[in-house]
Amino acid sequence: MQALYSRSMNRIRYEIEVQSGVDLTHLNTFGVPSTAAAYTAIQSPRQLEMVARSFAAEEVLILGGGSNMLFLHSPQRWVLHNQLVGRGIMSSRNGFSIVAAAGGEDWHEFVKWTLAMGLGGLENLSLIPGTVGAAPIQNIGAYGVELQDVFHSLKAMDLQEGIWKTFTKEDCQFGYRNSLFKEEYPGRYFIAEVQFKLTNRNHVLKMDYGAIPDQLSNMGVSEPQPQAISEAVIAIRQRKLPDPSTIGNAGSFFKNPIIPLIHFKKLRERFPEMVHYPAGDGLVKVPAGWLIDACGWKGKSEGAVGSYKHQALVLINQGNATGNAVWAFAKKIKQSVRQRFDIELEPEVNLIAY
Ligand SMILES: Cc1cc2nc3c(=O)[nH]c(=O)nc-3n(C[C@H](O)[C@H](O)[C@H](O)COP(=O)(O)OP(=O)(O)OC[C@H]3O[C@@H](n4cnc5c(N)ncnc54)[C@H](O)[C@@H]3O)c2cc1C
Repeated sequence: MQALYSRSMNRIRYEIEVQSGVDLTHLNTFGVPSTAAAYTAIQSPRQLEMVARSFAAEEVLILGGGSNMLFLHSPQRWVLHNQLVGRGIMSSRNGFSIVAAAGGEDWHEFVKWTLAMGLGGLENLSLIPGTVGAAPIQNIGAYGVELQDVFHSLKAMDLQEGIWKTFTKEDCQFGYRNSLFKEEYPGRYFIAEVQFKLTNRNHVLKMDYGAIPDQLSNMGVSEPQPQAISEAVIAIRQRKLPDPSTIGNAGSFFKNPIIPLIHFKKLRERFPEMVHYPAGDGLVKVPAGWLIDACGWKGKSEGAVGSYKHQALVLINQGNATGNAVWAFAKKIKQSVRQRFDIELEPEVNLIAY
């Protein structure tokens, strides 16, 4: 692979700027140290086409805002940093607008822009860090809304075939914190543009989730519009979650496990207070934060790594932790939860192991 890497790299080096030894510490929200041997800021679709012609998917690492990854090592792959920008309203009819955004756009800035344009649909997804292009990867979700609820289509470069492809909602196979891109083809498709179907009027508001009703009432809002819901969500998130610019983290470290009803019933005999939600046919979702808290990890630290005091599910880097130290701490949590509840926690965060 090294030979292919150098040969192809030389061929396109003249047309694309490749930097070596780029420090990624400030390009991942965990703030763990990592260095890219080869790094390129992708700023045009043409650059992407050239890269795809020369490299296979397993030889590159796509980097957005670095808010859902943990570097266990410095990546051996060529890091392609998505900096494609641009957004606009493609069409507007029958009360809906189709809005497009380039993959490198900052997610929250994009959400704010849609709200300023009077469009509804993204308000509950306010203040999620990262880029537009990464949002479909795990079908981002918060406060009762998932990306798939407002998704229209996306355009991606197939790094295996070197061709552009368009994906509809059905193609993406969205699931809970999952999609075709995360599950079946990790790294194969570079998402360059995402389109959303948003409401111009008669907005469908989700305002009964979690602390939203109380927050709206504290704000004195009785007939909210999307903008007010966004403000409520921002206020709640700022109270509950650590700001990555001051405390390194990647949001929820684990997915909420979904277990068979029969397993849940047995557990409930021992833990009647266990929080749970129905998750479809014979399945129950249990909040990972509750399980971790019940094992006594909430607010605990080992060295620079810890579980956040207000939300056990968020692992934090309080200083100069390495990715391996965070993962070692996470594995201890996994073991505790396995031993106590016979439940296997799966990371939501993408582990970058090569
Ligand atoms: C404080 C905090 C709160 C958070 N809250 C939430 C939340 O409420 N809900 C939620 O769902 N998530 C949440 N997250 C996780 C994270 O913000 C999202 O997963 C976000 O979409 C990641 O975007 P990113 O650009 O930072 O992706 P990165 O971390 O850069 O990448 C994540 C993965 O996607 C791949 N990838 C990135 N861009 C592309 C692309 N253009 N094409 C193909 N693959 C790509 C990467 O290779 C990697 O595997 C939170 C994170 C933090 C730090």
